[in-house]
Amino acid sequence: SMYLMNDRFVKDDEVTISIEDRGYYFGDGVYEVIRVYGGAMFTAEEHIGRLYESAEKIRMELPYGEEEMIAKLARLVADNGVKEGHVYVQATRGAAPRVHQFPGEGITPVITAYTKSYPDHAPAAEPAKLKSAADIRWLRCDIKSLNLLANVMAKQEAFEAGCTEALLHRDGTVTEGSSSNMFGVKDGVIHTHPVSNFILNGITRRVIMQCCEELGQPVKEEPMALEDVYEMDEFFLSSTTNGILPVSEIDGRKIGDGHPGPVTERLMAAFESKLPEPIAT
Ligand code: PMP
Repeated sequence: SMYLMNDRFVKDDEVTISIEDRGYYFGDGVYEVIRVYGGAMFTAEEHIGRLYESAEKIRMELPYGEEEMIAKLARLVADNGVKEGHVYVQATRGAAPRVHQFPGEGITPVITAYTKSYPDHAPAAEPAKLKSAADIRWLRCDIKSLNLLANVMAKQEAFEAGCTEALLHRDGTVTEGSSSNMFGVKDGVIHTHPVSNFILNGITRRVIMQCCEELGQPVKEEPMALEDVYEMDEFFLSSTTNGILPVSEIDGRKIGDGHPGPVTERLMAAFESKLPEPIAT
């Protein structure tokens, strides 16, 4: 399959990245993952909008604009024949001798993208089991930065406990997951952390909020205490790759009866109705 490298489409053996790339040295860059349903990218404008916002927040100027980026990724998806899958795109500040401050004039960002096709007839993901973990990340979690060390450590901690995702908390206040946003349901009301520098403003989260508005589903955008999540009636997470994923257990304690609850199921149906129609083949 083909890759995007800056403004070119290249084969895998033609991808060349400098050992001095600032992504490699510092994680100095930003990225996005866009889901492909039935051959079409879902919420591409929102993802690429967030990519350029993240780039601006780290004072990095990309060599071409959002529309051109979307067109290039759409071509990559089409050329690689992706039906169900995703496209990953990242931009680093470029390659230059290793000093922390920005490189000078003439160093341009390095953009790379690839696609991934999911296997046909993959079974639906199992409900997630969460392990709580301290959120030790920096204070700009609103930026979708390539610096993911704290997320990596938290996810590994969850996996070693037999769980699929970490439930991050700052001093007992739930923020989000290591690669997802988190939602609890209590007495018919959805609770989730407000959009701030402590979480990534998930694109899936935004679609969920839209669904809630359309369904008349009450949402409280207020931080949850970790000690309260175990008593929630329902719990779910959201991400581009998983959409809405019900949570069956947190720290070994069952949520509800361990099966997706009515609020979660209603929301999953509303979310699915927003996905692109599969292209007939
Ligand atoms: N929070 C973090 C830290 C993430 O890495 C992700 C996944 N990109 C999300 C939330 C979910 O965001 P989205 O719905 O845009 O994939």
